[in-house]
Amino acid sequence: MPHIDDETLALRALGEDVLDPGQRLHLDDCPACARTVADLARAVDSARSPSAAPELVPPAPEVWSRVHRELGLTEVPDTLAPGGASGASEHADAGGDDEAPRADVVELAPARERRAWWPALVAACAALVLGIAGGVLWERRSVEPAETTVASAVLDPLPAWPDASGEAVVQETADGRRQIVVSVDAPAPEGTYREVWLLRADVSGLVSLGILEGTEGRFDVPDGLDLAAYPVVDVSEEPLDGDPAHSGDSVVRGPLA
Ligand SMILES: [Zn+2]
Repeated sequence: MPHIDDETLALRALGEDVLDPGQRLHLDDCPACARTVADLARAVDSARSPSAAPELVPPAPEVWSRVHRELGLTEVPDTLAPGGASGASEHADAGGDDEAPRADVVELAPARERRAWWPALVAACAALVLGIAGGVLWERRSVEPAETTVASAVLDPLPAWPDASGEAVVQETADGRRQIVVSVDAPAPEGTYREVWLLRADVSGLVSLGILEGTEGRFDVPDGLDLAAYPVVDVSEEPLDGDPAHSGDSVVRGPLA
């Protein structure tokens, strides 16, 4: 049996189950083929190294044609893609005449030519995979908004809630979106819920930001709402009475500054 061709060994190194039973036996007994697989597997491992790329994405189909173009090849070898196949061609291994023809292994090109471009292809693939992974990481990084604290408030207890306390922080993202993070420490009676409001300084108007579940919540500040016109953060105790208006029972309150 002749040595297993480079493409098949490379796919094996990439973890593809491409060997037929005869090739499997050959790989077990042939140091040369085993060494090639080990070398390629090392290249693959270094490209997949967790320190270099925590998350790899599968390359898009056009990657093969880009690799191909980079290397100035004339024809895209479609058997490089897992599961790919092409028509059988003449067996071209040197000295292969004394071996039985292998109908199940597709030869792509004369051995000398394959050996010349295969290492470059592996390197180019590794570079592309790393580049794609890097791009994904960069994109993920840039999605995380850089938030700036633009105002904050200490929330003082109202007389009916002497043991309550709280605070509020207004954050603004680079794209101008504002959110307010409110935390309240106060006993929570059964059968009521808490709601966060922005009030006018003279309590002549108010805007509901939403329901506070637990002790801390993050709320969007409506676009266009002027915080200078509604500078007071208020957290109310609300009965489950279906009335959307402020209950009048404020737990904590404080001005943004
Ligand atoms: Zn061999």
